[in-house]
Amino acid sequence: MKNNLYLLIDKLASEHSLSCQEYELLLDGRTPELSEYAAKKAVELRQAVYGNDVYIRGLIEISNICKNDCLYCGIRHSNKSCVRYRLSEQEILSCCEEGYTLGFRTFVLQGGEDPFFTDEFLCGLISNIKNKYPDCAVTLSLGERSFQSYKALFEAGADRYLLRHETADPDLYRKLHPENMSLENRLKCLKNLKEIGYQTGCGFMVRAPYQTNRSLAMDLKFVEEFRPDMCGIGPFIPHAATPFCEFPSGTLEETLFLLSLLRLIDPTLLLPATTALGTIDANGREKGILAGANVVMPNLSPVDVRKKYELYNNKICTGEESAQAKEALSRRMEAIGYKLVTDRGDRKEC
Ligand code: SAH
Repeated sequence: MKNNLYLLIDKLASEHSLSCQEYELLLDGRTPELSEYAAKKAVELRQAVYGNDVYIRGLIEISNICKNDCLYCGIRHSNKSCVRYRLSEQEILSCCEEGYTLGFRTFVLQGGEDPFFTDEFLCGLISNIKNKYPDCAVTLSLGERSFQSYKALFEAGADRYLLRHETADPDLYRKLHPENMSLENRLKCLKNLKEIGYQTGCGFMVRAPYQTNRSLAMDLKFVEEFRPDMCGIGPFIPHAATPFCEFPSGTLEETLFLLSLLRLIDPTLLLPATTALGTIDANGREKGILAGANVVMPNLSPVDVRKKYELYNNKICTGEESAQAKEALSRRMEAIGYKLVTDRGDRKEC
């Protein structure tokens, strides 16, 4: 006999929408069986749009210098023990070159909010990459910038922008960030990105400190209404040199359930199985794909800076998560019935 929660999963799979309260009921009532049911439906929907293809993105961590002070983040401004670095344009271009040879057709430039990254510098960098690799997409993940700046970067050739909203719950947002940051501005940035024409990604952490199921339900409702092209989620993992060092990590099971619900909300969503998921479980990324994700983002940063881009403790950065280990990743995906593809991996329309 199916109970009401299974019927809610069915409803989400067919209507792609629930009320905030219904999302909360699902999160409160999560069991291994319910998760399995949601994952099965999620995989069916993903299969219909993307088949067995898994898209890859080469992640280049271009700087860990950040003017912000997000309480959860290991590269926050006030972490004096963080050894700071910034890649030069030449170093970034070398990463792209290596990535291209390995079969990557999307480069994700991610970093802290480093004031060195003026529009002038970034526009030059983006047009250089696009001229060299016209068949590749460039994704930026460089935090909050002005409308004008986002527009200039888009006109220079950037295709996508990732800006996790972090939480759609205003009270929680205030607990996770210093006073000079606001959910209002974060959401305005996301709206601007979409309006300019970027393929836009939002996202949130799972089990950030003080996060309740109500907060997570608000995140699901936000994704449902905002309709991003991408959504990055991963478990919160504490970093020893932050105020949240004593809080526990989010769990694999809960993150997988949320991935399935996101897939049910949007069958066409570009949904990564993130590094944080791979950090809390050795097979986290495969499990993420089996829960409904369809993207992985191996690390293409120069090996000596990977450890320094430490958003949270024990971030995987020396083994099979790296771009250089693409063959190993490819075999792991084949073992679960999926195929890594050499493709820009744009979002498909239903
Ligand atoms: N400065 C950019 C990139 C931030 S780092 C920006 O503001 O968008 C990318 C993501 O890592 C963040 O959006 C956050 O969701 C995640 N992150 C940061 N600290 C984390 C932690 N302790 N555990 C898990 N994820 C974390």
